[in-house]
Amino acid sequence: MKLFVRFFPVLLLLPFCKNTNTETTMPTQRPDYAIAIHGGAGTIRKSDITPEQEAGYRAALDTALTIGETILKNGGMALDAVTATIAYLEDNPLFNAGRGAVFTHEGRNEHDASIMDGRNQMAGAVGGVSIVKNPIRLARAIMEKSPHVMLSGSGAEQFAIENGLDTVAPSWFFTQRRWDSLQKVLEKEKAQQPRGQLKPSRFEDQKFGTVGCVVLDKNGNLAAGTSTGGMTNKRWNRLGDTPVIGAGTYASNDGCAVSCTGHGEYFIRYAVAHDVWARMVYGGLSLEDAAKQIVMQKLVEKGGEGGLIAVDKDGNIAMPFNSEGMYRGFAKPGERQVLIYQTE
Ligand code: ASP
Repeated sequence: MKLFVRFFPVLLLLPFCKNTNTETTMPTQRPDYAIAIHGGAGTIRKSDITPEQEAGYRAALDTALTIGETILKNGGMALDAVTATIAYLEDNPLFNAGRGAVFTHEGRNEHDASIMDGRNQMAGAVGGVSIVKNPIRLARAIMEKSPHVMLSGSGAEQFAIENGLDTVAPSWFFTQRRWDSLQKVLEKEKAQQPRGQLKPSRFEDQKFGTVGCVVLDKNGNLAAGTSTGGMTNKRWNRLGDTPVIGAGTYASNDGCAVSCTGHGEYFIRYAVAHDVWARMVYGGLSLEDAAKQIVMQKLVEKGGEGGLIAVDKDGNIAMPFNSEGMYRGFAKPGERQVLIYQTE
């Protein structure tokens, strides 16, 4: 009893001591929020696009950043910032996602998308849909309203209709530019001896163009999302890395959020998005080193072209790519950049 009386004042102070400790160990330099986006990696040369086209890409990336950043500044959720930013890029025909998606061998548009919540590893993914206006919204609905992670094809479209998502006629996704790219590839395929399908890696005019967004919000929550039309001349209901959680998209609050773009088969084989997280969390690497190791060493060694964007729990951003260019940008309080080429 004597002891209790002696230590009673100390016991009363304990909750406050704990609080003081927590405060002093809070990372001091974590920005209020951070957002990074990509609009695809690939053979993007300054000599191949006109100054007007370049200005159009830069303006679109800038608008996308503003959409996400406004949500984050106002204290919005990481998931909402990712969804709205990607939906804008899907509606913009410059990018290979939503309107502007590339064509399959048969001349269709088949969209893939995924989203992941870093708070709890909830995830939603969709593959091969042709009538859903914003595939990223469908991925989100799958995460939030279905017991599943991944839906595909007509079943996924049915789910979209039942959940009131906007649908459009398949022709809504038609763009002349992507149609012409398919025709070029088909002609090359015809000329090829012996005849067969050109391997995606040999598509000279393949510019990729997938879109993605990774975010850290004011509450310290991470989220990632990715959306694509896939690769020109894809066939047999091919799915790439974009709808594969751990390959094209990954987010976990204890490490980082990642969105990939590039030759999907390689990103699936090497579980690229999850590997960035694993190299950080298990391997103790910084985000920058983890992302660079896999994109600039592993993928280069294996022949996988592309890149990724990532943000970690402290607001660091990495955007490595091993192709000629990657449409990309990031914003944090007081900082903003939009980039296309390797050096600029
Ligand atoms: N990764 C996408 C796919 O393989 C393509 C891209 O990023 O451009 O479907």
